[in-house]
Amino acid sequence: MSGDVKATAAGVTGAVQDQAGSAQETDGPRIGDLLRLLRGSGRTVVAALVLTVTGTVVGLFQPLLTMRLIDRVSAHEAVASLVVALTALFLAQAALEAGGQYLLDVTGESVVRRLRRRLVERLMFVRIQELDGRRTGDLLSRVGTDTTVLRDMVAGSFVQLVTVGVTGVGAAGLMLWIDPVMFLMVAATLVVAAVLVAGVMAGIRSSTEQALAGVGAMTADLERALGGIRTVRAARAERREAERIGADVDTAYTAGLRSARLGSVVGPAMEIAVNGSFLLVLLIGAVRVSNGSMTVSELVAFLLFATYLVMPLAGLFNALSLIQRGLGSLGRIEEVLGLPMEEVTQASATPPAASSSTLLDLRNVTFSYGERPVLRDVCFTVPRTGIVALVGRSGAGKTTIVSLVEKFYEPDGGHIAFDGTDIRDVDPRAHRARIGLVEQHAPLLHGTLRDNLVYATPAADEESIRETLRMVNLEELVERLPDGLRTEVGDRGFNLSGGERQRVAIARALLGRPHLLLLDEPTSQLDLINEREITEMLRKISRKHALLVVAHRMSTVRAADRIVVLDDGRVSAMGTHEQLLTDDPFYRRLTTDHLKHPDADRSMA
Ligand code: ADP
Ligand code: MG
Repeated sequence: MSGDVKATAAGVTGAVQDQAGSAQETDGPRIGDLLRLLRGSGRTVVAALVLTVTGTVVGLFQPLLTMRLIDRVSAHEAVASLVVALTALFLAQAALEAGGQYLLDVTGESVVRRLRRRLVERLMFVRIQELDGRRTGDLLSRVGTDTTVLRDMVAGSFVQLVTVGVTGVGAAGLMLWIDPVMFLMVAATLVVAAVLVAGVMAGIRSSTEQALAGVGAMTADLERALGGIRTVRAARAERREAERIGADVDTAYTAGLRSARLGSVVGPAMEIAVNGSFLLVLLIGAVRVSNGSMTVSELVAFLLFATYLVMPLAGLFNALSLIQRGLGSLGRIEEVLGLPMEEVTQASATPPAASSSTLLDLRNVTFSYGERPVLRDVCFTVPRTGIVALVGRSGAGKTTIVSLVEKFYEPDGGHIAFDGTDIRDVDPRAHRARIGLVEQHAPLLHGTLRDNLVYATPAADEESIRETLRMVNLEELVERLPDGLRTEVGDRGFNLSGGERQRVAIARALLGRPHLLLLDEPTSQLDLINEREITEMLRKISRKHALLVVAHRMSTVRAADRIVVLDDGRVSAMGTHEQLLTDDPFYRRLTTDHLKHPDADRSMA
């Protein structure tokens, strides 16, 4: 049983190490990049530094006062004022350090906030192709988890390092002053310990990266499984999913164990070094005191300083490992922050409308997502009014054409002109303002039904909302909803049917009064009655607007003024339904095999 677990764990580590190995080829972030995180919190950091360093320096006076105290006691002098001074020093140190830590925590929170805002901003504006092939959950974990790693680093390491430095230099100087030989002995053991720590640090950093990659994979897989929970249950794959996601958890666990192992070596080794040097100091100190070359108070002070030098080593170790973890997380965050944004073309926002009757013109458009060409030499036009239907087998490239027209991707070759201007030269947002898009799987967005309707046109007035609802036959739905237009819809609210969602999407697109309405299989989720109504509605809209419809149902195809037949990324024929039926064998086959006939629907019902 435990053998099995070990075997899987080892397999997982191996796989992850490969990943980490390839990821390390690109230069990771450096300490300077970590310091740059503090930009924007400069004043708070300086204040925190001042408080903490002052606190540390105040602390350094304690052994000196203690030394004086012992001397006075052995000389039978009054010590009340010294006791008061020592107490004041303790209190001052505690207050200063607490204040410093508070300011650091504030800085840490600000760093997280800045990073998260930048990440969210970047993810919203990134080029769509950068999100292709990425797992949403992994991106989520970078925004959620990796930023908190950096917060902990900022709050727990920078000033600690400074404190260790100040304490170290201060204590070392004072020890050197009290007894140089004994100091050198302590220093030598500490140098050995430090070298040891440095060697282990690299290992801790790489296991941290693996652990975070494991958390990212876990979030991604979990997000996917929960998103499709009904399919998972229907396939009775709960156990399998739980195991698979569990394996990601194990990856993080294995990496965490490795960090723990590395960390556990350091602790005892340091302790041996430290206690050894302590014993040495005590022995030699005792000899010195007995032969009169050192006073008892000097020995006490020396031992106190030695503690000062040694105690922060635990903090140093902690700070360094936080920094290693921070570097790992910063790498993952910077990778997202470095994703290219959609180019904003500064050229004319919306070029003046050309007077030709053609609104959209695709000329020799070629495109591929990767190696395999998806569109080849696609040519067709969409007039200012009327319906152009795009038909073809699934995978022919229909949705890809819609994406190119929306400027989600740039064509590899050829041109797409809108209103007589190549859309390459138009600002993407200005371009999209002229187009209404209804996606294949029309998603609901956050908020109420009304929010969803006016998503693209927040200023829409009630009258046009009502009118549009009438057009897409959603009035009845609004009446049925508990709070009408103010009903929360989507994940956390009222669940709309696929057909209702599509009609909401059509209404949303129409409210923007677009020049061109792009509909990707708008009737795929509709029942027969709705389909007829929608087709009728599309006809009505097409008197004033241009419609490019990826059609899926015969009724929509028949209603089209022009049909573009797409076969494996090429336009294989164009014409009206009647023309194509007589002239084009491929179209004939398509109508029997792929396009849904109302009769077929009826027989299925
Ligand atoms: P259709 O809408 O006609 O069914 P698509 O335009 O969605 O077809 O897809 C055309 C081809 O491009 C398919 O082979 C599909 O697998 C591929 N494809 C679609 N989107 C992507 C993407 N984001 N990355 C890689 N390949 C894709
Ligand atoms: Mg499609």
